[in-house]
Order: sequence, then structure tokens, then C-alpha cells
Amino acid sequence: MIQAIDISERLKVITTLIPDDTHVLADIGSDHAYLPCYAYQMGKVNNAIAGEVGYGPLRSAEQTIKTWELQSVIETRQGDGLAVLEYAEADVVVIAGMGGALIRDILAAGHQILSPTTTLLLQPNNCEPEVRGWLNDEGWAIHSERLIQENGHYYEIICADRSRQPGSLSRKELLFGPILLHNPSDPAFRAKWSHEWDKRKKILSSLSKATMAASVQEKKRRFQREQSYIEEVLSWEKT
Ligand code: SAM
Repeated sequence: MIQAIDISERLKVITTLIPDDTHVLADIGSDHAYLPCYAYQMGKVNNAIAGEVGYGPLRSAEQTIKTWELQSVIETRQGDGLAVLEYAEADVVVIAGMGGALIRDILAAGHQILSPTTTLLLQPNNCEPEVRGWLNDEGWAIHSERLIQENGHYYEIICADRSRQPGSLSRKELLFGPILLHNPSDPAFRAKWSHEWDKRKKILSSLSKATMAASVQEKKRRFQREQSYIEEVLSWEKT
């Protein structure tokens, strides 16, 4: 049996989505570099780059790589987002465990280094529609998605390649995920969206007591629309 680093289920699921023919993986915001170490140990990649903006996390990454004696195959680089990479240097770019708005901003700031054959593996902790919106607008096609529940959190993992088609995701696909939407009976999907419906209900009842500035009204309309999408997708009766 291969001796491998013990990592979270979330990072393991991301690793399963790395294509088999990957030579170089870049993990942006790698922190402890658990993902690149595990991906190498599982035989998923030949080499990896662990990118980190923070000095402390970079030192943690170096320590993990040293502990597992992977210095010859995993390199650390300090820098902001995709700026640590050369054009087409990585076949697969992972950006995981951050807010969706930050992931979108990292992609928007550094997309020039992504080649037509780069695969993106993204795991936002929130604001998933913003990440899907960026992919859709910039000509990326989502071809795999996973939803997992771990330690009381739901995590969506989005895998995208360059598309030959112009983006055409609907509002509903942006919200639920174009692939995840096809499996509404999945228990994790049902649990997540039932929870999201409740969250919107609470927010809407607090908003109805608040002053109705135009921006608040717009937010209210969006939550109401999302609630009815959730009811439709879960085939609920309106309560
Ligand atoms: N990717 C790992 C995971 O999924 O478990 C670590 C996630 S950790 C919560 C987020 C990491 O992203 C932090 O170590 C932080 O320093 C790093 N980070 C935040 N913004 C970044 C940026 N613009 N470029 C590179 N790293 C960034």
C-alpha cells in the first residue's frame, strides 16, 4: 500500500477530478500543500507547483513537502494568484478553499497564463454562481461538478475546460451548477438546497421589516426568484 498524506475528503474528491494524463499541476493558495503532495503520491501528476501569497502558509507548504521528501517534484512559489505561473506551464490549475469572489478575481487577473488545454479545478467556499458566471463569460465549459458535505459544510467542486461554444448558462444553471442540476435526488444536493431555501426565508423576513432601498428590493427579488428555483428543482409545494 502507498504511504500517503492524510487529507480531507474535500481535497481527495478534488484529486479524483485531476485528468489522468496530467504532467504539471498548480495549486494556487496551497497553504500546507496537502493537495499537490497527495496528488503526486496517488500517481495523478508528475510535478506540481504550490503557489502561495502568504509567507506563513508558504513555510507550511515547504515543511509538508520536506516531510514527505517531495522537494524534487513539488516546487513552492510565493506570489499573488496565477502570477507565479508562466504561460501554459500547468496542465491543471486548482484554486480551492477560498471565497468565490476571490477565485473569480484571481482568474480575472491572471487568465493570460491559461492555455487552450488548461483544465481548471475550482472549489469556492461560497458565491459559486460568481465563479460559474466568470467561466461562462470567458468561454470556459463546465464538464464535471461534485457536491460534498464535510464537517457541516457543503462544498461544490467545478471542473472546466476551454469551450468552443459561447457561454450559455441559464440563471438556474449558474445557481445550482449545470451538472449538479441533473441529479436533484442526490441527498447532499437536497440537503444543501433545503438549507439554502431556509436561509433565504430568514433573510427575506428580515428584509421585509427593513427600509426598501432600490438595492434591497433587487436583493429581495433575487432571493424570491432563487427560492422559487429551489422549490421547482426539489419539486416542492410552495409553503
Ligand atoms: N487550497 C487549500 C485548501 O483548499 O485546503 C488551502 C485553502 S486556505 C483556506 C486559502 C489559502 O489561499 C491561504 O493559505 C491564503 O494565504 C491563500 N491565498 C489567498 N489569496 C491568495 C492569492 N491571491 N494568491 C495565492 N494564494 C492566496
